[in-house]
Amino acid sequence: NLQAVEVDKWVKSVCRYCGAGCGLYIGVKGGKVVAVKGDDKNWNRGYLCVKGSYLPKILDAPDRLKYPMVRDGNKWKRISWDKAMNLMVSKFAEAIKKYGPHAVGFYGSGQSFSEESYLANKLYKGALGTNNIDGNPRLCMASAAVGYVTSFGKDEPMGSYDDIYHADCFFIIGSNMSEAHPVIFRLVMEQKRKRNVKIVVVDPRKTLTARNADLYLDFVPGTDLFILHAMAHVIVKEKLYNKDFFDKHAVFKKMGPDNKPVNVTFDEYVKFLEEYTPELAEQKSGCPKEKIIQAARWFATSKATMSFWCMGINQRTRGVWANNLIHNLHLLTGQICRPGATPFSLTGQPNACGGIRDVGLLSHLLPYGRVIANEKHRAEMEEFWGIPKGRIHSKPGPTAIELFTKFAEGEIKCLWVVCTNPGQSLPNLQKYRKGMASGDTFLVVSEAYHPSRTSELADLVLPAALWCEKEGTYGQSERRYQYLPQVIKPLGEAKSDFEVILTFARKLLTALGREDEAKKLFPYKTTEDVWNEMRACSKNTVYNFWGMTRARLIKEHGMLWPVPTEDYPAPGTLRRFTAKYGDPLVKKFDPKAEDISFYGNPADGNRAIIWLRPAVGPAEPADKDYPFVLTTGRLIEHWHTGTMTMKVPELMRAAPQAFVEINPKDAQKLGIKTGDKVRLTSRRGSIVLPAKVVDIPRPGVLFVPFHYPEKLINDLVTDAFDALSKQPEFKISAVRIEKV
Ligand code: SF4
Repeated sequence: NLQAVEVDKWVKSVCRYCGAGCGLYIGVKGGKVVAVKGDDKNWNRGYLCVKGSYLPKILDAPDRLKYPMVRDGNKWKRISWDKAMNLMVSKFAEAIKKYGPHAVGFYGSGQSFSEESYLANKLYKGALGTNNIDGNPRLCMASAAVGYVTSFGKDEPMGSYDDIYHADCFFIIGSNMSEAHPVIFRLVMEQKRKRNVKIVVVDPRKTLTARNADLYLDFVPGTDLFILHAMAHVIVKEKLYNKDFFDKHAVFKKMGPDNKPVNVTFDEYVKFLEEYTPELAEQKSGCPKEKIIQAARWFATSKATMSFWCMGINQRTRGVWANNLIHNLHLLTGQICRPGATPFSLTGQPNACGGIRDVGLLSHLLPYGRVIANEKHRAEMEEFWGIPKGRIHSKPGPTAIELFTKFAEGEIKCLWVVCTNPGQSLPNLQKYRKGMASGDTFLVVSEAYHPSRTSELADLVLPAALWCEKEGTYGQSERRYQYLPQVIKPLGEAKSDFEVILTFARKLLTALGREDEAKKLFPYKTTEDVWNEMRACSKNTVYNFWGMTRARLIKEHGMLWPVPTEDYPAPGTLRRFTAKYGDPLVKKFDPKAEDISFYGNPADGNRAIIWLRPAVGPAEPADKDYPFVLTTGRLIEHWHTGTMTMKVPELMRAAPQAFVEINPKDAQKLGIKTGDKVRLTSRRGSIVLPAKVVDIPRPGVLFVPFHYPEKLINDLVTDAFDALSKQPEFKISAVRIEKV
């Protein structure tokens, strides 16, 4: 029981793992971290899940990387920081001098601190003039981000966890919250015990989340767009919509023949929905139509409906459209911008929202809602950063898959991967691993542990300070920014990525003969200096968090942007887009707004969009050669590629190895029993795993957790991606299974 350990002091901080962003206290004794306990004044009210509770054990694992190491043939050689930095700078500078700025790249992480990602973004886009910089949220949240922008004009959820206390219906689709976001799900279940709330779960696996539902809709993976349309069909047919709301706050649009959006009428929308009957949805998805009708009625008629979704919706070739269809239901019924009524995408990483989407560390973004493709936004950032006009390249850069393809093909000569593990987490993995291992290019990996499945492919590895060994800011799922202090010294010679990026930026610009710019663009002494620049950068945007000084973040238990002034009360804005329920910026950006203002096209009065998106299936459905659908996901005990949770003996005892879940009906037909070795084969690869026969996946579906480094299930997964968000379809790949 770590919480019972005696400590010298407790220091307020945040969990290192998921995007729920639980507040916690770190217990320090004799200069060592010995315990954590939940922060009872933060949103999580003192609760932590099993992963968070064992956090201290990730810090001094035997494979922590303590020194910079350089590849020497098949061996690794320890070198000094000076030599490591000089080697890296000379390689990057040489590539830039010879081939121009697009010869170098950066792959960042939703686990880095915001200040670190901001620096990297400024270096690449602002100083070097290349948009070859993307981050791992491209693999998990890109469709949610583009979904918000295409439906409402701006990214990020409008609601907050506070809505859980007000919702009467929870619509959970494509999310196993009970394992992936356990503390948020705990709050939902608490409401179920206390009040007469309804929980609807839509998922092809009967997860623990689904088992707690009042209504469970299971379906053939990839057919959920039919279910969402059929719900809209029922809402329209039974006149359960809120015409006053959408007349005032939404427009209907479809893509025209020239691939430009065109406005349509409500009647045209009704006509579009005609074919998407519950009967058609049942035929396509296998989900009984009565359940779809019931879900639609509860969604529309509850006092307040809150929807949650995550990777099951986002990791899809139609992920953006699926996001749009969820928003459609909220806009159609007016279940939005009121306490308890809101769409709410869940986030996988602790700082994917704050540090990547908000900071703009994706190849098409600039900080705080600005985009590369917008000339005015580029000009704003050029002025703000004090760089020459036209420095920011006008073409969005390559997204994750495209970035690693360019690296594999040698177009990008030098790539720096920070705080993430693409050697395990990319889809169609062997293709990209081969590219990363190529001898003609130069791969630098900043990592806390070595070897990881990525650092083993690197030319140079840099030891990274971990979690409470450094300071910075995280922004979690509900727009809450939280400060994490440095509590202990980094292990060995490990350094914070902030220090390393800053040093590299100055040295690289100097090596390129731009010493003056190095001083002018990167003058910072502390992370707070960068934080203050970020606050100023957000000022004239709907993200405005000028009022979140470092001192306030240290004192408060997180604050939700917008927080435009230093006297704006904590915890900030619980509900955006609505003046009545909180957003202080509604009037600023739309003086005519009454109580609600979205940020759509000004020609449409900034209204939100109800999209007519046809239901389209996955890139690779099951067929006669590969008759099963492989879906990958998470277990409660482990987090992402397992680099941290697999250092915790208690978690490893609970979930020691990879397996494949198979439905008992399929197992019986194939003569497979629990523990049998089975081979899974897709068009891209093959893997042998122990079988787990269990009534969780529906017949025809196989589930494998993607955490385990010795069993790279992503070898089998398709790298087809969404045309709008460029997020790959991890959730659906066709495979066959046979007993070995
Ligand atoms: Fe950490 Fe997420 Fe668990 Fe909270 S729910 S303790 S943030 S892993």
